[in-house]
Amino acid sequence: MSGALSVVGLGPGPLKWLTPEAEAALNGADHLIGYQPYLNRITREMSAGERHGSDNRAEIERASHALSLAASGARVAVVSGGDPGIFAMASAVFEALETGPLDWRALPITVLPGITAITAAAARLGAPLGHDFCAISLSTNLKPWSIIAKRLTAAAEADFVIGLYNPVSKARPGDLDHAFDLLRPVRSSDTPVIFAAAIGRPDEAVRFETLKSARGRDADMRTLVLIGSSETRLIDRPQGLEPYLYTPRSYGQYRASSRFPYPSSEAMDDA
Ligand code: SAH
Repeated sequence: MSGALSVVGLGPGPLKWLTPEAEAALNGADHLIGYQPYLNRITREMSAGERHGSDNRAEIERASHALSLAASGARVAVVSGGDPGIFAMASAVFEALETGPLDWRALPITVLPGITAITAAAARLGAPLGHDFCAISLSTNLKPWSIIAKRLTAAAEADFVIGLYNPVSKARPGDLDHAFDLLRPVRSSDTPVIFAAAIGRPDEAVRFETLKSARGRDADMRTLVLIGSSETRLIDRPQGLEPYLYTPRSYGQYRASSRFPYPSSEAMDDA
C-alpha cells in the first residue's frame, strides 16, 4: 500500500496564511476532497489533483471515500478551512478509520495544521487570548443544545475568554441570542463582545459590542464571536482609530499585588 492521506488546513482565507507544508501537500495530491467552497480556494496552479467536492454534511462518508482512495494507492488531501483539527475534517477521518476496514490503519495519515479562526481573529484585534480561553461551537448538527448551554454557563463562570464558532445558521436563527442570554447573569454587562467576520478575506468586518448591546443578528456563518473575560479590555485610540483589545497575561490579584506584570521569574516560564 503506497497511498497516503493528509488532512490539510487551509487557514481562514488568504493564501499568505497557508503554510508551505500545506501548499506542498496540495501540490502533490492526486485527489482533493472537501467542502466545495474550500476546494474553490485552491487554484489549478496550486494543485492539479482531481476534485471531489461535497456539501458540509456527510463528513464521515467523505472521510471514508478519502481513506479508500488512499488505500488503493493514491495521494489524497482532505481539506478543511482554518485548522483541520478544530471543528473540522481531521476527527471525521479518524472516526472513519476507527470503524473502517482494518487495513486502512496501515496508511500514513498526516494532519497539517492551519491558522484557526480564533487565533486569526485574536491577532486582528490585538491580544485577547493572552490568558485562558476556550472555543465552543454553537452548531447543533452534531450535539444537543443542552450540552452547549451547560458549557457556555461553565465557561462564563470559570471566567474564560470564549470564542464561538458556527454562531448561527438559517435553521437556528435564535441560538446566538440564547447564548448571550445564558452569559448575561454571569458576566458583567460591559464585557467586550466582538463580531469578527471573514477575517483575512476581502469582506472582513469587525464589530465591537458589549454583552449588553450584543445581538445575534450581527453574526453570520463567517463570524467568530469573541467574548471577553472579566480582565479583557479595550485600549482606546485617537478619534477614528479602532481600539486594541487585549487580555493581560496576569490575572486579578496577581497583577494588583505586583508592581511588575509578572509575580515571579517562574511565571515567565511560559512567556
Ligand atoms: N476548522 C475551522 C473552523 C470550522 S467551523 C477553523 O479552524 O477555523 C466554521 C466556523 O469557523 C465559522 O462558522 C466561523 O465561526 C469560523 N470561521 C472560519 N473562518 C473564519 C474567518 N475567516 N473569520 C472569522 N470566523 C471564521
